[in-house]
Amino acid sequence: MQIISEPREMQRLCASWRCGRETIGFVPTMGALHAGHLELARRAKRENQRMITSIFVNPAQFGPREDLERYPQPFERDTQQLADLGCDAVFAPTKDTMYGAADFLHGTWVDVTPFDEMWEGVTRPGHLRGVATIVTKLFNICSPTRAYFGEKDFQQLRVVESLVRDLNFGVKIVPCETVREPDGLAMSSRNAYLSPEERKSATVIFRAMKAGKALAQSGETSVAKIGAAMDEVFAQEPALQQQYVTIVDAETLTPLRELDGQSARILVAAHLGKTRLIDNLAL
Ligand code: AMP
Repeated sequence: MQIISEPREMQRLCASWRCGRETIGFVPTMGALHAGHLELARRAKRENQRMITSIFVNPAQFGPREDLERYPQPFERDTQQLADLGCDAVFAPTKDTMYGAADFLHGTWVDVTPFDEMWEGVTRPGHLRGVATIVTKLFNICSPTRAYFGEKDFQQLRVVESLVRDLNFGVKIVPCETVREPDGLAMSSRNAYLSPEERKSATVIFRAMKAGKALAQSGETSVAKIGAAMDEVFAQEPALQQQYVTIVDAETLTPLRELDGQSARILVAAHLGKTRLIDNLAL
């Protein structure tokens, strides 16, 4: 497995594969890999002749008071796991090679409206723009045939789909189901920040979403009633501070009042102590 930090070198390698008519499956990550990431990588490996991953903690998608500085970076463990899965190349650039050594060297940004005006876009200003910009750069460097994204970051997935459609990228976006711990907590690199007590409290997110889903499956169509049922479960864990809990149209992410057969999604963002967690579930 090759580990490459220079964008041009990665670009040349991927271009040579594409010229040889090989398909490339690409899994962009910020590292600190867990079973969710590895599931994406396994699928990319199965469905393509070449499988590549990027590991880059993208400063452009972190706000000034977020966890950029403390984001875990167990690079050797990550690359070992990817090598074990048969990854062909890991692209691990530095901040300077991606954005230039001074801020003014990078002046081109990708904005994805209207998604950046809702949910994650509002609670993390600039985050989705940072995501759309780095994904654009990575697609141009890695020329993937298919790129694999987790439903765990549901709004990010919609942003990337929008980006590919609007800017005519020739890549197929493959959504992958959220991988969960046995108790339902969605796997996330940020779970490592949770104290044992917080880790227990965190399970309330999945329990609340499941309660909402069960009510919807029993025939309830009022979003307010489903929301109230979820709130009852959330109330069992006062340590968890909701940022937003909403039921939206799964395509447009606009809030729903009534379920009437359209595909709907519960979206949750919450803080436990200093850790911010997000999750979602199809209704
Ligand atoms: P990250 O390293 O957090 O930027 O995530 C890299 C990719 O892995 C993104 O497409 C995420 O949506 C995906 N991912 C993260 N957690 C999970 C999970 N629990 N299940 C499935 N995919 C995930």
